[in-house]
Amino acid sequence: MMPFYSLRSNHYYEPSSPLQEVDWFSLSAVILLLCTAPFLVFFFVMVCDQYQCSVSQPLVELYSGEATLLSIWEKAPSFTWTAAQIYTVWVSFQVVLYMCVPDITHKFLPGYAGGVQDGARTPAGLINKYEINGLQSWIITHALWYANAQYFHWFSPTIIFDNWIPLLWCTNILGYVVSTFAFVKAYLFPTNAEDCKFTGNVFYNYMMGIEFNPRIGKWFDFKLFFNGRPGIVAWTLINLSYAAKQQELYGYVTNSMILVNVLQAIYVLDFFWNEAWYLKTIDICHDHFGWYLGWGDSVMESFLFSGLYLVYNPVQLPTTHAAAVLLLGLVGYYVFRSTNHQKDLFRRTEGKCSVWGKKPTFIECAYRSGDGGLHHSKLMTSGFWGVARHLNYTGDLMGSLAYCAACGFGHIHPYFYIVYMTILLVHRCVRDEHRCSSKYGKDWKRYTDAVPYRLLPGIF
Ligand code: NDP
Repeated sequence: MMPFYSLRSNHYYEPSSPLQEVDWFSLSAVILLLCTAPFLVFFFVMVCDQYQCSVSQPLVELYSGEATLLSIWEKAPSFTWTAAQIYTVWVSFQVVLYMCVPDITHKFLPGYAGGVQDGARTPAGLINKYEINGLQSWIITHALWYANAQYFHWFSPTIIFDNWIPLLWCTNILGYVVSTFAFVKAYLFPTNAEDCKFTGNVFYNYMMGIEFNPRIGKWFDFKLFFNGRPGIVAWTLINLSYAAKQQELYGYVTNSMILVNVLQAIYVLDFFWNEAWYLKTIDICHDHFGWYLGWGDSVMESFLFSGLYLVYNPVQLPTTHAAAVLLLGLVGYYVFRSTNHQKDLFRRTEGKCSVWGKKPTFIECAYRSGDGGLHHSKLMTSGFWGVARHLNYTGDLMGSLAYCAACGFGHIHPYFYIVYMTILLVHRCVRDEHRCSSKYGKDWKRYTDAVPYRLLPGIF
């Protein structure tokens, strides 16, 4: 039977089978990730704490019998109530900023889309309203951080680094609690039962989520909250805490640490400046909320950044190396932002705009909705979207590579981040193309013939 793409739902459906099948490969990957992901992240943080970020040293010790898994585990700091208090205060504060402080920044920042904004249409045909106040939360949080460091001295600016592994366990607890809560909530009191997606496999449901937009009350939206806060607001503070620790330990802050702080701060500020635009991206308008988003946002958003390595290995880069990293990071950011902007402009104006000084070219596409109706859409084939099908991901990856390269070439550890980002974005690209292919059928084929490469022209 021909698959349908529901306009009302924005999702593709196989009308004869209400439950989606999960193949064995996906199921095995899901179970493997659920069981190992927290320990993998622990490993990469622990090796910094115990082995100066050497990834091979613990493996050599295990192989030679000098260490056992238990002895390594016992040497690493574990959960502490101090970290639990810090994390509880942090998350609660972000909830208060999210729920209780309506955005005023859009009133005086020209061009910024904050305040109450519409999301994309959900599977059940709803258009949710969102309070976009991430930029404001970021500004308030950082102003308080600055005031504390400069005047109040309630806590040390190294507080995050000093509690790093105990905080890792707290983020894991939150990640699993929120995913489990969302899972149970989907069965017992879903926000919108028509927006739920069941696959018939409990592990897959837990991981990829059942509810589309779980909410508590009218405004507490799980996806928006966990996507941006507490992880992304914390990102710049985590980096500042690393820099403060370098200062405390060595009496100076390296140029590599400054580079990492600056490049990642640009990315974070861009995220909050464009928070309303993120409502239209895959995370919010296609993915369901489960462990993938709940745990991923809570843990992975905070624990994979390169600044940690630089605290243990204070790399001072030669000027040419630092300049090359800065250039790579800025070019990556430019490609990432411009590609996203071109598609946004193209879709908003329905192609009546100028891209790279010309009228954009596109492929006219047709697709059927679940009720059988025929609809039309356009896929742009010029600008960055004519060079490859996902150059926004390529730009993102260039930026990620710059964060790694800022750490020099002494260890493999900081390069784990680019490996992780590559897996994440290639998987995202494949998922998205599978969905687009189901939606547009032969028109998608025409598009992929016209723009044959995904991320790297001539290679992939
Ligand atoms: P995209 O912004 O690339 O959106 C993909 C959708 O755009 C497709 O499903 C299709 O939707 C439409 N589309 C595809 N090709 C075209 C075209 N040629 N012309 C017009 N429309 C097209 O995906 P994401 O939401 O994944 O990414 C948004 C940004 O977020 C990216 O820059 C990504 O790098 C970033 N991101 C970063 C992460 C991180 O951890 N750093 C994680 C996730 C995302 P339709 O059905 O409407 O046709």
